[in-house]
Amino acid sequence: MDAWSPLATRSNPSILHPLMTTGSLSKELFNASMKLIPGGVNSPVRAFHSVGGEPLFIEKGKGAMLVDADGQEYIDYMMSWGALLHGHAHKEITGKIAKALERGTSFGAPTGFELELAKLVTDALPAMDMIRLVNSGTEATMSAIRLARGHTNRKKIIKFDGCYHGHVDALLVEAGSGVATLGIPGSPGIPEEVTAHTISLPFNDLEAVREVFQKDPQGFAAVIVEPVAGNMGVIPPQEGFLQGLRTLTEEHGTLLILDEVMTGFRVAWEGAQGMFQVTPDLTCLGKIIGGGLPVGAYGGKREIMEKIAPAGPIYQAGTLSGNPIAMAAGTKALKLAKEPETYQRLDYRSQYLTDELKKRADAAKIPMTINRVGSMFTLFFSEKPITDLQDVKESNLRRFAKYFNAMLEEGVYFPPSPFEACFLSTAHGETTIEKTLAAHEKALKKL
Ligand code: PLP
Repeated sequence: MDAWSPLATRSNPSILHPLMTTGSLSKELFNASMKLIPGGVNSPVRAFHSVGGEPLFIEKGKGAMLVDADGQEYIDYMMSWGALLHGHAHKEITGKIAKALERGTSFGAPTGFELELAKLVTDALPAMDMIRLVNSGTEATMSAIRLARGHTNRKKIIKFDGCYHGHVDALLVEAGSGVATLGIPGSPGIPEEVTAHTISLPFNDLEAVREVFQKDPQGFAAVIVEPVAGNMGVIPPQEGFLQGLRTLTEEHGTLLILDEVMTGFRVAWEGAQGMFQVTPDLTCLGKIIGGGLPVGAYGGKREIMEKIAPAGPIYQAGTLSGNPIAMAAGTKALKLAKEPETYQRLDYRSQYLTDELKKRADAAKIPMTINRVGSMFTLFFSEKPITDLQDVKESNLRRFAKYFNAMLEEGVYFPPSPFEACFLSTAHGETTIEKTLAAHEKALKKL
């Protein structure tokens, strides 16, 4: 085994690198990664920049628990950024993956696995007559935007400040997640001509959308929105916001794209679109539908989806799209999710946890607002309601960083940024939650 392998552990010192000096294997691995991988990580928020400190390298996960390279255990509320609905290394999912592996890892030709996942997803989401499987959420939103532009023969799109739709050039405008975490307005390397067609408006501000449509009624190909924002922390849609978007887009011949990469199969079996009763033209998915492997998908109305190649002229393709191992994992994850009471239990436990977190913060006189939808939530150090990106920016971000590190010391791993969502899984049981609450009480005392 390579000395720098993430599987190197204190319990197996024979594989430690001879030059190891710091006493922390995570630190060693990070230092070595910095030399080979920009910032030492393969996705920016993993670097812990907004909370200080350095990332932990993970050795393994089981259920709700993570174990780092130094053998420390943590209760995990990041759950691979929401991709894991059933916790780490769920036996039935890993078993299904192992079985699929025996048949081969990729064929570049259609398989029954793809059909099975397509059927499960389209049965759950009636707005999806057809679906195309891709490899990430970014690919899904990028392809949905291309499809919307090709279908409507229009260029402009509307998105919302703090919503993150992956690192698609045209959508990296006032984006959330890592872009918000790093405090950069967009990204160098994206020509103005590309973002010139993107308008970003405040989340939950229907009036702003109305005004933009008034100025250019026929100009917009699509409105893309996270139906529950999760990339500036969790922010639910205010009453009437999503329905208003549906009405306005219909009136103007504009497609409504719900980006459910995070919320799909997370907030409810029917997604946020079922929960809030809004029917999009196109839906983007990712995370949970891959069961922890790289998958994305977009889909929607038949007459629109049939414009995708080879059924139609709008091109989109992928060497590994519909990969059989990822399909096997995703299919199993969804079948487990479909079992009775999965979402009721997740909701109940999440509500209990967030209610108790808040009660303890109140008792400690620490101002805190917790936003939650189903099993996704964010804790903001703020006295006022959090309804858009500006509110998040005005919350006490330094206190969040302190709290994050205090929780980490107590063995609880929250996402390392105030602009992200925490997730429960079906593996987060009562004992785990009680331990989290005990850690929270201790962490509050350190603020
Ligand atoms: N859309 C949303 C709502 C997301 O939360 C994300 C990622 O967090 C993406 C799109 C991009 O997905 P991926 O990171 O798989 O490319």
